[in-house]
Amino acid sequence: MVNGATDVIVVGGGVIGLTTAWQLAQRGVSVTVLEQGRCGQAASRAALGALWPPPMAHASAMQQMHRQSLWGYEAFIQSLQSASGVHVEYQRRGKLELLNSTDAVRTAEEQCAAANTSWPKLGDKPVMELLTDQQVPQYEPEIANAPHGAHLCRWSGQVNVDQLLESLVRACINSGVRMIEATRVERLESAADRVVAAHANGQRFVADKFVLCAGIGLPTISAGTDLAPPVTPVKGQALLLRVQKEAVRHIVKSGMIFLVPWQDGRILVGSTTEPKAGFDLTNTAEGIAFLINGATQIVPALKAAVVERVWAGLRPTGPKHHPVMGKSPALSNVFVCAGHFKIGIGLAPLSGKFMAELVLTGRTEPGMETFAPKSLSQ
Ligand SMILES: Cc1cc2nc3c(=O)[nH]c(=O)nc-3n(C[C@H](O)[C@H](O)[C@H](O)COP(=O)(O)OP(=O)(O)OC[C@H]3O[C@@H](n4cnc5c(N)ncnc54)[C@H](O)[C@@H]3O)c2cc1C
Repeated sequence: MVNGATDVIVVGGGVIGLTTAWQLAQRGVSVTVLEQGRCGQAASRAALGALWPPPMAHASAMQQMHRQSLWGYEAFIQSLQSASGVHVEYQRRGKLELLNSTDAVRTAEEQCAAANTSWPKLGDKPVMELLTDQQVPQYEPEIANAPHGAHLCRWSGQVNVDQLLESLVRACINSGVRMIEATRVERLESAADRVVAAHANGQRFVADKFVLCAGIGLPTISAGTDLAPPVTPVKGQALLLRVQKEAVRHIVKSGMIFLVPWQDGRILVGSTTEPKAGFDLTNTAEGIAFLINGATQIVPALKAAVVERVWAGLRPTGPKHHPVMGKSPALSNVFVCAGHFKIGIGLAPLSGKFMAELVLTGRTEPGMETFAPKSLSQ
C-alpha cells in the first residue's frame, strides 16, 4: 500500500476515473489516483457537455444505462456541488433535433410514443414531442429550414464541463483521495492471478485493488497482462462561437452537427467523428469547415458569430462503441472502466457508482455484464 494506506489505485484522472475515485472514497475506501498529466485534461476536457437520452424505442443495454445515468444527473450535480463547494452549471433546456426525411418522422413518432409512456415525467408537458415545420419557428425562430419538422426532447440537458471536472477534482480531494499527477503508469506487476503494483516514474505503487480508467491509455497499461485492451481513439473536433444576441434556445441537432447554447452568448459546436485519425490532435481546415458550414446552414445568423476557440479530443472507444466495464476475467483484483466514446460525461455518474459497488462488493449491476472486459484468450 502507498504509505501503508491505499486500498484502491485508480489509474487515470478523467471524468470516469475521478467519478469512480470519488464514489469509492465516499464509501470509506482509501483511494489514490495516478494521472500521467493533469486530471481532467484529456478527452473529458474536449467534451461539449451535451446530455441527451438516446431516443430509441427499443433501447440496448448501453442506451438504457445512459438514460438511467441522465435521470439521476441533477441529483449527482447537487451532491457533487455540496462535496466540492464548486458550482457546476447544469441546465435542462431540451434538444430540438431536425428531422431529414419522412422515414425519420415515422421513427420519431414511435420514439415519442415510447418515451412518453416509459420515461420519467417532467411536469405536464410530454417528455418528447413532434414539431411540424410550422411549429419549429415558435421554438427556434432562427432556424432556416425544417421541411420535415423536428422532435423536441425535454429531458435533454447540458453541463459546464470545465466546472464539472474542477468540481470532481475538489470533491475527490475533500473526500481524502490522494491525487498524484504527472505520474504515468508504465506497467502493472503481477503475481499469480493478482496485480501487486503499478510502476510509474521509477516508483512502485502498491494497493489491494486497481481500477483502470485510463481511456485511450488502457492498451499500454494492460500490455503484458491477459486483459484484451480494445479501447481505441476516435478523434473529434469542436469549436466555440460567441454571439451578441440569442441565436438558439435549446440544444439543436441536425445530422452530425449539434449546437449547445449558454446564456452568456457562448455556443459550443460539435463535432467531427474521425476514427482513422489515430492519435492526431490537430484542427484541420476540413474539420472546422464541416462544423462552421453545418452550424450556419442550420442557423444562418451564426455567420456573424465570433469563433472564439477550436480544439480536438480523442474519444476512448470500446468495441462496437460500448464501454468496457467490469472485473478482469484473469486478474482477481483488477477492474476496468474505459471506452465511453461520445457519452462519457453523461455516463460518468452511473459508471462511477457501478464501479464503486463492484470493487467493494463484487456485485455486478444488471445490464453491466454486457460490457465485461475480455481476456486475450477469449
Ligand atoms: C469533441 C468531443 C465532444 C464530446 N462531447 C461529449 C458530450 O457532449 N457529452 C458526453 O457525454 N461526452 C462527450 N464526449 C465524450 C467524452 O469526452 C468521453 O467519453 C469521456 O471524456 C471519457 O472519459 P475518460 O475519463 O474515460 O477519458 P479521459 O478524459 O481521456 O481520461 C483518461 C485519463 O487517463 C490518463 N492516462 C492515460 N494513460 C495513463 C497512464 N499510463 N498512466 C496514468 N494516467 C493515464 C489520461 O491522461 C487521462 O487523463 C466528447 C468527446 C469529444 C472528443
